[in-house]
Amino acid sequence: MPLSPKDIFAADRHHVWHPYAPFVNAPPVFPVQSASGVRLRLADGRELIDGMSSWWCAIHGYNHPRLNEALRVQLDSMAHVMFGGLTHGPAVQLAERLVEITPDSLACVFFSDSGSVSVDVAIKMAIQFHAAQGHPQRQKLLTIRGGYHGDTLGAMAVCDPVTGMHGLFRGVLPQHLFADRPRVRFDAPWDPADTDSLGQMLMAHQDSIAAVILEPIVQGAGGMWFYHPEYLTHVRALCDRHGVLLIADEIATGFGRTGKLFACEHAGIAPDILCLGKALTGGYMTLAATLTTRRVAEAISAEGRGAFMHGPTFMANPLACATALASIDLLLGQPWQARVQAVETGLRTGLEPCRGLPGVTDVRALGAVGVVELDQPVDMARAPGEFVRRGVWVRPFGRLVYVMPPYIINDMDLATLCAEIGGVIASGIVAAP
Ligand SMILES: *Cc1c(COP(=O)(O)O)cnc(C)c1O
Repeated sequence: MPLSPKDIFAADRHHVWHPYAPFVNAPPVFPVQSASGVRLRLADGRELIDGMSSWWCAIHGYNHPRLNEALRVQLDSMAHVMFGGLTHGPAVQLAERLVEITPDSLACVFFSDSGSVSVDVAIKMAIQFHAAQGHPQRQKLLTIRGGYHGDTLGAMAVCDPVTGMHGLFRGVLPQHLFADRPRVRFDAPWDPADTDSLGQMLMAHQDSIAAVILEPIVQGAGGMWFYHPEYLTHVRALCDRHGVLLIADEIATGFGRTGKLFACEHAGIAPDILCLGKALTGGYMTLAATLTTRRVAEAISAEGRGAFMHGPTFMANPLACATALASIDLLLGQPWQARVQAVETGLRTGLEPCRGLPGVTDVRALGAVGVVELDQPVDMARAPGEFVRRGVWVRPFGRLVYVMPPYIINDMDLATLCAEIGGVIASGIVAAP
């Protein structure tokens, strides 16, 4: 028998830990019964317009017939087999497809089970590459402040040192190098001085640096900041000059979210290593991929035993691969660019009135991402409940109220979503006491 909303809530309180939350005195959580299109249906019957795509993932909305079908068909042949010594159609087809749609130089795909792990994999690839080239001392990563790359210890070590809680884990985190975050906005006039900090650090430490790692164009969970494409162009050139690899973490930006299929396309550059996750399966299940060039893969393979030292148990899970293939086909089989552009326009128009509200310091939108930045942190004990009361699902963090709805959201839902954000901010309820 299904649990009642009250039972779910009670059992949750007793036994379940939620992300970035205390176990005792946890902030409110809302039991979800089902989800379809851009609607989350709560166990108490209320319906919410989804503004989050379940953290960048559900780009086609929930419960999509094509994705459901792909998953069912795959389930009837096999749910999972180990990937050591075995292979299968869904993995191979997905790898081919990813190579086809990403920059030309990327040719080799390593599957893993989550974004954070794909970042760990990318870091290990960069280090093994340099070791194979006779530079085993190149083990440091250079990154930019304000970044977010995941929660495993490897990925965490390249997250912003302040918001990434490096102090707490000092003893186990490797020490990497942090350049200033890009200052020039996506659509502002370019200033070449913006890459000075990164350029100087590359110069000073090049013999110990394996790779630069960054989120191209949109820094996500580290502050929802949109920076200038020229920054990326210059970083690519600097990496080449110093013999350092470039890792692009497109876990959040991949699959159209910023208006391009991959955010690197805004600058027309190709990374040496690319991390994909989140929207890869259209929000159905956890799967990630780390892509690299033949040059990197061949160098690693030529050294010693030649093995790349990673291998998750659920590597290339067939259900996830089959769903990812269907999700990519679904995306590319429609005029997705026009759709994302329409969402951007709707977000710009809908969030613009927030600019005049007390406490609002900035409003910005790029692709299907909209952000309202405040002058103080949101009260997370009250704000989520207020959004739910108004029929929308928005989950702010820090001083940021942001949305990245499914691409399929219609104009009316989008307008409602934006209006309710304005309403909650205007009510004054978001400011922490
Ligand atoms: C979410 C995210 C990750 C981590 O992915 P998980 O699947 O949560 O491990 C890494 N990098 C970026 C840019 C992300 O947005």
